[in-house]
Amino acid sequence: MTRIIENHLLLPDDPPSPSELRRLLSAGSGNSDLHHGYLGPDEDLQKLIETDARFLEERGLTHEQVAEAVEQLFASENPEEFRGTPIISLEYIHSPPCPWRDFIAVSPFDFRKKVTEIVVINRTKVDEFFKLLDERKGLGVNDYAELVKRDLVAVFSDLHPHLIRAHQFFEGHATPYRVDPTKVAHFLGI
Ligand SMILES: [Zn+2]
Repeated sequence: MTRIIENHLLLPDDPPSPSELRRLLSAGSGNSDLHHGYLGPDEDLQKLIETDARFLEERGLTHEQVAEAVEQLFASENPEEFRGTPIISLEYIHSPPCPWRDFIAVSPFDFRKKVTEIVVINRTKVDEFFKLLDERKGLGVNDYAELVKRDLVAVFSDLHPHLIRAHQFFEGHATPYRVDPTKVAHFLGI
């Protein structure tokens, strides 16, 4: 049995079992954000969701607010700026399906290039970021982990609004695609 879900993807009818979900969230599953995966091998999904929800609440934010802000980022008419902050919009053909198998932002039958990833530069470290960009003559996805660690950027994917809204999931600490609830307001100007 298959069904057509939001945005056309044909998927098995049943949601993944806990162990299957664990596999889909792990690095190297073929269904994760590049090679990083969504969740580190030592992370507990439920605990992470609860801890992040607490952080978010402490900052007076809701999941819906963050999901909406990421949607607005992707809807930004200027591919180089969002709310006064420089951004880098990256175009790809495909976007990963949700590990819960209930959503994909881009139809797998759509082979046009579209923005599926946006790197938001830390507005207080813009000079430092562009200096690094100059030195390295451009940056690739392999630089994301270092850039996030140095707090120079946050990386957003077109899957994030769904992950945050439907699953209260910001991704684990091991991936540079994590939407850190303690930093998201700063990066998205919420
Ligand atoms: Zn989902």
